[in-house]
Amino acid sequence: MLADSMLYTFNCDECGAELFLDYNVVAEKSKKRIPLEVGSNEKHDCPAHVWTSAPFPCRSCGVELYVTDEEVSKSGKRIPLNTANDEPHKCVNRRFNIPCRNCGEKIYFDDTKLSKNGKKVPLDASDGNPHDCPQQKARKDMSFGRKTMFG
Ligand SMILES: [Zn+2]
Ligand SMILES: [Zn+2]
Ligand SMILES: [Zn+2]
Repeated sequence: MLADSMLYTFNCDECGAELFLDYNVVAEKSKKRIPLEVGSNEKHDCPAHVWTSAPFPCRSCGVELYVTDEEVSKSGKRIPLNTANDEPHKCVNRRFNIPCRNCGEKIYFDDTKLSKNGKKVPLDASDGNPHDCPQQKARKDMSFGRKTMFG
């Protein structure tokens, strides 16, 4: 067959399958030729190809992220990864705020901010500084006052 011998074939970068392009088989939107498999003439749906999104900025901190079918959480959601190091993105700006037990102010904990005894330090949600609880202070002042009064 003359047509076959003139066929331009190439190997898929990802799985090595022998592919060719047909001028008549183009993608609807991009009008790009779709790789077809030599032999079956079927569209090559690459088994090795993992879908990866275009980079997008994190809505909270602006760091460049992407998602891929390779990294999904247990619930089946794609995990945002840092384009810089391919690690799951732990957003500095998206944290879990809880009200302080003593004063009700919003605080949060940071895995990297630990006290001397290795406990997580409560931080102010507003500025990220260690939470200097006014209620706890008041209590301390009271006990201190009592001590001086009676001792
Ligand atoms: Zn392939
Ligand atoms: Zn972020
Ligand atoms: Zn407090």
